[in-house]
Amino acid sequence: TSKLKINDFDLWKIIEQEKIRQEEHIELIASENYASVSVMQAQGSCLTNKYAEGYPHKRYYGGCENVDKIELLAIQRAKELFDADYANVQPHSGSQANFAVYSTLLKSGDLILGLALSHGGHLTHGSKVNFSGKIFNSIEYGVNDAGFIDYSKLEKIAINYRPKMIIGGFSAYSRICDWERMRFIADKISAYFIVDIAHIAGLVAAKLYPNPIHYAHVVTSTTHKTLGGPRGGLILSKNQTKSFYHAIDMSVFPGSQGGPLMHVIAAKAIAFKEAMTPNFLLYQKQILINAQYMSEIFIQNNFNIVSNGTENHLFLIDLSAKKITGKEAEYCLGCANIIVNKNSVPNDTKSPLISSGIRIGTAAITRRGFKEKESKLVSYWMIKIINNINNKNKIDEIKQKVRKLCLLFPVYDYTT
Ligand code: PLP
Repeated sequence: TSKLKINDFDLWKIIEQEKIRQEEHIELIASENYASVSVMQAQGSCLTNKYAEGYPHKRYYGGCENVDKIELLAIQRAKELFDADYANVQPHSGSQANFAVYSTLLKSGDLILGLALSHGGHLTHGSKVNFSGKIFNSIEYGVNDAGFIDYSKLEKIAINYRPKMIIGGFSAYSRICDWERMRFIADKISAYFIVDIAHIAGLVAAKLYPNPIHYAHVVTSTTHKTLGGPRGGLILSKNQTKSFYHAIDMSVFPGSQGGPLMHVIAAKAIAFKEAMTPNFLLYQKQILINAQYMSEIFIQNNFNIVSNGTENHLFLIDLSAKKITGKEAEYCLGCANIIVNKNSVPNDTKSPLISSGIRIGTAAITRRGFKEKESKLVSYWMIKIINNINNKNKIDEIKQKVRKLCLLFPVYDYTT
């Protein structure tokens, strides 16, 4: 760090400001987390210098003897952690992982069926502004009035339209998915069933959320959300043929990427190891407890939670009845150092840039040590702010309390 300070003071200063921001804010964005110091050290290591196009022992460059070992270790750990036969640890991101899998199994113009963006799906599950809705034809399934995935409707859509692929997984859905039923539906129309566990990978690794590896043809993920590793993507599979796995490998490299980011792959290997520890299991259990605890407090205080609760690390607050938009809530909470993101709710009448909801996730606050007591405090502060959005003094008062609480729970100890 001191080298950076000397060589590029302007940049160093901004990073220092970001460190302070992360320490002094309560992070409730469901897709964010704090990577361990070991993960960050690997990412800042000499591995960033190494080109290694290809796969272990089949590289297009010399000098890969060490990075081969690293990638093999990452693959072996990923397979063990997720009970998979196959892992590709090279995708630079979750979107890249999805792109590689879709382009392995589909031709352009093929029909895909994913969870609607406004019902909790991800851009890469068929959104018209994303490659998944541009290269492929996409249709969507959604949730019922109670906020749960409507499987019978999903089945009807699948049988009527016969998509080549059904995509499970989500960015903003707080319930357990019935992977078995989705595979059953996919089998009826001989479609591929793909599950994107980006959000819940940590919970799946800890066996606190059903592992879709036993049902899906392919599972994709990111490594930086509940899993708490470096930003990156991952592809897993089980019980498929060698040529199927080879086709996915070819679709990642050379199909859609060049050289793998070996520093990130090393960091992924570390994160997979961390996820095998008893501490990680405790951490994931507490994520669930905190999410349930917070959602219940909101419900008790007359807030509308989509599906009326949560079985994972996140939940959606529907603010339609509160006469405040998601955008306004995000802004006001931000003024008190509480960071959330506005989020569309099912059947939202507002545009995604305004939206009627906010998404709350507990992976980051739990990582810094928040338990029930702190989750309760945060929930009450949020409720006060949302109910008093024009009261600047109140918001300021809460901001001071937030900063004090954050001081008690440092994310990183920068003094060591
Ligand atoms: N899949 C899901 C379900 C996600 O929620 C996300 C990110 O939010 C992604 C994929 C994309 O990951 P990335 O941002 O690494 O491309």
